[in-house]
Amino acid sequence: MAGTAAPAWRNWAGTETATATEVRAPRDVDEISAAITDAADRGQTVRARGSGHSFTAVGAAHDIALDLSHWTGIVAADETTGEVTVRSGTGLAAVNTALDGIGRALANLGDIDAQTVSGAISTGTHGTGARLGGIATQVSALELVLADGTVAHCSATERPDLFAAARIGLGALGVISTITLRTEPAFALAAEERPEPLDDVLANLDTNCAENDHFEFYWFPYGHNALTKRNNRLPVGAQPKPLGRARRFFEYEVVENAAFGALCKIGRAIPALVRPLNKLSAAVLSPRTYSDVSHKVFVTSRRVRFVESEYAIPRDSLGDVLTELRAQVPRLAEPVMFPVEVRVAARDDIWLSTAYDRDSAYLAIHQYLGMPYRAYFDLFESIVGAVGGRPHWGKMHTLDADALRERYPRFDDFRRVRSEVDPGGRFRNPYCDRVLGQIA
Ligand SMILES: Cc1cc2nc3c(=O)[nH]c(=O)nc-3n(C[C@H](O)[C@H](O)[C@H](O)COP(=O)(O)OP(=O)(O)OC[C@H]3O[C@@H](n4cnc5c(N)ncnc54)[C@H](O)[C@@H]3O)c2cc1C
Repeated sequence: MAGTAAPAWRNWAGTETATATEVRAPRDVDEISAAITDAADRGQTVRARGSGHSFTAVGAAHDIALDLSHWTGIVAADETTGEVTVRSGTGLAAVNTALDGIGRALANLGDIDAQTVSGAISTGTHGTGARLGGIATQVSALELVLADGTVAHCSATERPDLFAAARIGLGALGVISTITLRTEPAFALAAEERPEPLDDVLANLDTNCAENDHFEFYWFPYGHNALTKRNNRLPVGAQPKPLGRARRFFEYEVVENAAFGALCKIGRAIPALVRPLNKLSAAVLSPRTYSDVSHKVFVTSRRVRFVESEYAIPRDSLGDVLTELRAQVPRLAEPVMFPVEVRVAARDDIWLSTAYDRDSAYLAIHQYLGMPYRAYFDLFESIVGAVGGRPHWGKMHTLDADALRERYPRFDDFRRVRSEVDPGGRFRNPYCDRVLGQIA
């Protein structure tokens, strides 16, 4: 077993660090199992590392860390069912490319594809679409290596409780070795993006959600306009019309990354300029339409670093919550540089899913790295908390197990499964201790 990655780890935002006592890079399931039983023999913990894109310390490994970068690729593709099984260390970008190659695609994705597929599902990563769930809802079976080193399989019909828990398991139930994904025939999306008054967007929210496969919007606090994005499937056989390379480079790399990054730097140095800079940022986002292979429309490049919190709320609370944020954010002493992102998802049946049993709207708030964010995030948490908001497991929040039990109806079912499969806490870390509590 090669030990390639460094023991010292930090997340994408640079807000969390941890140093493992040992890093192992398993090349097969036996080596994953051996790492777990070795940890047990030494009384240590073990955690699989993803790509470190969580803003919370969910990804921290303090004893043995498993680097799964040698455990990647497609294992099997079933042409009849469309199910595709991948090794857990595979990156989402590689999954998308491999699926493209066999004429398949995932039904929905988040904003980026830099995460590993296992990291993405383990924290409940999602995109937008009122009739669709997050990536974990596209999983039809899992193979996990449990605390005693044995291999378990689970699906809706095989160990269904383990399946309901482990699809969004925070790395706390075992090391996922393979993931079987439900895929669809490859499809293209037509994207339509334009600024619209926020009041109109909220007034027409239900229609926008019902009439579009994927609806979302960005809103710069202090502004009256939102930038709406509607992505809809093109009919089979229609020829997509991607943005030209030069325009794509200019709009994504120059405007949305380089120029926006430069404005953020100015705002961080001179906070009094943040509001006018916000207006400028919103104004340069011009309308555009284009179409492309689905994952190229879902995914964008995010090179400006930020911190983020995101909560799922009942969809019908969105108007009230945004009205409250709109009233309160201008009263904060420290200005906010980044837009709020609003997405939607259908209810699902995964126990720790932010959309468990309720149609949800997601509000994600951000602040440019290095600018004060605590008061803003606290204000946000109190507003979304009043409507039973559930925090994204990979994004900043302050809730603990007692608070989360109130918000997740199946919280104690998850804890029961956890204590059955990992009674000795082999997969714990401080973040899991905080949000899940001690093992019963
Ligand atoms: C720029 C940016 C954009 C983002 N966009 C979105 C978005 O659009 N939508 C959204 O919902 N989220 C988004 N996120 C959050 C991100 O998708 C999640 O935090 C995700 O978990 C990160 O995946 P990762 O591979 O980096 O996993 P990590 O953060 O490294 O780990 C996450 C968890 O997965 C566990 N894990 C990893 N591999 C395994 C395994 N094999 N078995 C068991 N557990 C495992 C880890 O132990 C850890 O508990 C974004 C984050 C960033 C930084």
